Amino acid sequence: MSGRPSASLSLDLDNKWAYLRAAGREDWEACDSYFEIAIERIVNLLGELGLPLTVFLVGRDLLRDEDVSAIEMFDRLSNWEPGNHSLNHLPWLHTMADQEIQDEIEVTHDRILAKTGIHPVGFRGPGFSCPDEVLRVLDRLDYQYDASVFPTSMAPIARAVFLARTKLRGEQREKAKKLYGGFAAMRNPNQPYMRTLASVGNADGTNMWEVPVTVLPILRTPVHFSYLNFVAQSSVPLAKTYFRMALATCRRLGVTPSLLLHPPDFLGCEDDTDMAYFPGMKMRAAAKLEFMRWALALFAKQFDVKTMFDQVSQLDPTLKRPPKLMASQRPVVSLSSSLNPDVLL
Ligand SMILES: [Zn+2]
Repeated sequence: MSGRPSASLSLDLDNKWAYLRAAGREDWEACDSYFEIAIERIVNLLGELGLPLTVFLVGRDLLRDEDVSAIEMFDRLSNWEPGNHSLNHLPWLHTMADQEIQDEIEVTHDRILAKTGIHPVGFRGPGFSCPDEVLRVLDRLDYQYDASVFPTSMAPIARAVFLARTKLRGEQREKAKKLYGGFAAMRNPNQPYMRTLASVGNADGTNMWEVPVTVLPILRTPVHFSYLNFVAQSSVPLAKTYFRMALATCRRLGVTPSLLLHPPDFLGCEDDTDMAYFPGMKMRAAAKLEFMRWALALFAKQFDVKTMFDQVSQLDPTLKRPPKLMASQRPVVSLSSSLNPDVLL
């Protein structure tokens, strides 16, 4: 026993195309992938610090051999688990028909199982979107937790900034107006809690764990690393003071944090000029990696950091993960999307 409070660490493995599409760039489909460079840096730093990781994978990124090879680098970590981050990373699941939601989750689930042999047991909706149908599908697929709640006070501000910056027009812009929810998101708990599925029509009253993306207790401002990098590009001392204060507040109030990484947290402005608009992308790689090493080392020192599944199974020892499949046991999946391309941006 370490004596440190428990915590978890996850990565939303959003690829460059998802960011360019959200920004309204028409050439998003033709862009290159930054997986190899970003994942190598992530694995090197987390490996050095002995940190485990939950990686939320987008089904669309499990088609190209180069991307799948880059994802296999996570096997170098002492402990990692893949989670499901939807098929097409459309941040408005709450506007979709039930069948589309089912496809978004199931196609990705099958691809993760086929490529890694691991049955994913956690889901995070792109854009923190999680309508009731998502929970019904997760329950059917024997998932153990959802991680789509982001209980921040900044949701309406984040949405306003997104709408001001994006070039999205027409129907997609209308859908984007519902992004991130409203101030209601703040009323959700700020650490793992049991969510009942009875309210979504599950007759046997099955429960599922919810692992929210932890925010600063009380003020409910973000603590995820893209936000820290956004602060750090103006003032590294300010970002360090804020992060130290956030971790100290979690410890004092008994909040077991679940913190979130994105690939651009490991990329500098010289690595990818297309990503210049993303928060924190004005920093050079060396400065950003130095800050990330400091922040993750502090997190590892103060908390017993786990994968998200290990965090919830510590709270609920009855949870079980299906065994890993050997290569010969893995399903063969179709390489084409089952979705109508019209639903893509
Ligand atoms: Zn994402």
